[in-house]
Amino acid sequence: MAQQTFVIVGASLAGAKAAETLRAEGFDGRVVLIGAEAERPYERPPLSKDYLRGEADAKPYVHDEGFYAEHDIELRTSTTVERIDAASSEVLLSGGETLGFERLLIATGAEPRRISLPGGDLDGVLTLRAMEDSEAIRARIDAGGRLVTIGAGWIGAEVAASARQRGCDVTILELAQLPLERVLGPELGAVYRDIHTEHSVQFIGGAAIEAIEGDGRVAAVRLAGDRRIEADFVVVGVGVEPRIALARAAGIETENGILVDERLQTSAPGIFAAGDVANARHPFYGTRIRVEHWANALNQGPAAARNMLGRAEPYDRIPYFFSDQYDVGMEYAGYAAAWDEVVFRGDAQSREFIAFWLEDGRVVAGMNVGVWDVSEHIQALVRARRPIDRRRLADPGVPLEDVLAESRSAS
Ligand SMILES: Cc1cc2nc3c(=O)[nH]c(=O)nc-3n(C[C@H](O)[C@H](O)[C@H](O)COP(=O)(O)OP(=O)(O)OC[C@H]3O[C@@H](n4cnc5c(N)ncnc54)[C@H](O)[C@@H]3O)c2cc1C
Repeated sequence: MAQQTFVIVGASLAGAKAAETLRAEGFDGRVVLIGAEAERPYERPPLSKDYLRGEADAKPYVHDEGFYAEHDIELRTSTTVERIDAASSEVLLSGGETLGFERLLIATGAEPRRISLPGGDLDGVLTLRAMEDSEAIRARIDAGGRLVTIGAGWIGAEVAASARQRGCDVTILELAQLPLERVLGPELGAVYRDIHTEHSVQFIGGAAIEAIEGDGRVAAVRLAGDRRIEADFVVVGVGVEPRIALARAAGIETENGILVDERLQTSAPGIFAAGDVANARHPFYGTRIRVEHWANALNQGPAAARNMLGRAEPYDRIPYFFSDQYDVGMEYAGYAAAWDEVVFRGDAQSREFIAFWLEDGRVVAGMNVGVWDVSEHIQALVRARRPIDRRRLADPGVPLEDVLAESRSAS
């Protein structure tokens, strides 16, 4: 039989881990990993943390330089897939080359949402997604001065923390009343606001931004009521959009990402999607979810690769992510679309605690802050979907395994 070709579009974490897995699983056909960026695949979390602060020893690559050649993975950097022809199973590359495939993985990720504000294109208004964005922001941080972040989601909050740690004056502007409120709710949003204000960051919630002002380069951000916040540079972190244009043009079904089934297969036979771009049917939740986090790319890429090889493996991991701001590290596991109660285990002021989001007495998500090696237990509680004893859940003296075991015997 002629050699098969598996093509992966998007040479970042999901794509690189998929390529690695194809070889680890014994696939001996052609593996072509195509990435628009000049860099070989790298991890993005350090770009708002130690790499941004200039504290990393090296660039955060996914694999050593020699890895791709050693595993006979054809890595094409600085190459864009311009079109997918699902009917003829071909991709068209920038430069005009056409490549046929037996299986295709789309791992095109996501890109920062733009804001349309007067002055949004001034010099010094920046976004963060790629390594070069991080380097550009680092250069501004090194020059010192006043940073305004627009948006207090994970990226805005982490950039604010890193810039503050490097001595910049920082103001965070957020439309909601509190940072991270959409995901964490008001109780935990308040904890993160306090963490920032304790580090002398100015947090302005409910901020209605009217314009970014400056003559060629940014000088200030103007809020409703004629309030001006002076700025030497601005980082806009108002969320990301999945990169779906390629798939949509190929007639592949999209809606808040590329729609895939439990096995990460798109509406086009032989074509899969994984990572930030995939809106995947999740067997545990019984609905589609799109997860924009590192662990999802790390694990979904390999799962897609195994399914490309016909393994029929549903992807059912509980969503997980982490964030580091100043000396406060956290992990979050679960997926809380709605909740009716937040239970704290430990004192939030001490920055060593676990918060649980409950719906109908069941844990739907948990976040450990400054407490480690508990995420697996939190995920087990989420998976159990059983009513738990809140008092015992809140008691740091009761091991989480016991809380889970008791819920089992009570049901
Ligand atoms: C600054 C930053 C900090 C983060 N911190 C955390 C964190 O602390 N914790 C956490 O859980 N998550 C974090 N994340 C999120 C995490 O990095 C992403 O979830 C992860 O990168 C998604 O990987 P991906 O491979 O799906 O897509 P991406 O990393 O977005 O990569 C997609 C790749 O596809 C390429 N591409 C797109 N279209 C084409 C095309 N047509 N042809 C060729 N190539 C194409 C792009 O150039 C890009 O390189 C962070 C993200 C950023 C940006």
